[in-house]
Amino acid sequence: MKYTTKMCPYCRHPYVIHAPGDQIKYGCPLIICSRCGKNFWDTDIKEPALYGFDNEFEKRKRLETNLAMVMYGGIGLVILIASIITEYYFMIIFGILIAGFDFFLISKELERRAQNKKNHDLIIKEQQKQYDESFKRLQNMNYLRGLADVDFRAEFVLKEIESGEKDPFFADRPE
Ligand SMILES: [Zn+2]
Repeated sequence: MKYTTKMCPYCRHPYVIHAPGDQIKYGCPLIICSRCGKNFWDTDIKEPALYGFDNEFEKRKRLETNLAMVMYGGIGLVILIASIITEYYFMIIFGILIAGFDFFLISKELERRAQNKKNHDLIIKEQQKQYDESFKRLQNMNYLRGLADVDFRAEFVLKEIESGEKDPFFADRPE
């Protein structure tokens, strides 16, 4: 993993070290320099209530394995039935072996998911906490106005609120 040292734009004091790149850094983009005490916005840090957590990769992968499991299960079943219909002893053994292997792969995937679930629940819980904190920060109009100068999503939400929109556009809360 790569790390980056960032500096306060006023006094060049290093203030944050984090992994750059494709990975989005979530949190509060308002930085208060510990040396000079000035405030500034770090637009590399995104408010989760504006951007949402990027769980798309995980969702897509889950959908793909669901599809694969249905396919494997279906093929296993068809082979099993077809082999039984032949009424040939060797064909039936062959069918059971192939179908058994398919069902074995499916059960492995289900087992892996059960183990991951606990971990996954913890991640979502932490994301919900961060989302709620972010949402609370954005209710402060001074904060939102400041952020709107440097962040187009904050600007959009601000415009909606100022035009009297009761349900401004925030990202979905992770669940
Ligand atoms: Zn500073």
